Amino acid sequence: MKIRTEPIARVWEWQADAACRGMDSSVFFPPAGERGRARRRREDAARAICRSCPVSGPCGRFALASRQHYGVWGGYTETERRSAVRVMDRK
Ligand code: SF4
Repeated sequence: MKIRTEPIARVWEWQADAACRGMDSSVFFPPAGERGRARRRREDAARAICRSCPVSGPCGRFALASRQHYGVWGGYTETERRSAVRVMDRK
């Protein structure tokens, strides 16, 4: 069996250009149990940052491929990623 691996630096190098680099992670990761309007406000704020991010594509693909359960990645919320993963798993 042949295992393909990528250099670690290549897997993560997109993060060097991230718009969220150095920001407080609480913008992207809600506290446990946060719901309703507070949650939507947090997600909207995170998405606004992601919209201006030059690496939103790689970020979103990484989150889907590595099945990130929490937070906003690539402009997509946890709920949106869960739906996308369900579709991907059906194929
Ligand atoms: S898309 Fe959003 S979460 Fe991903 S690196 Fe850019 S700003 Fe950060």
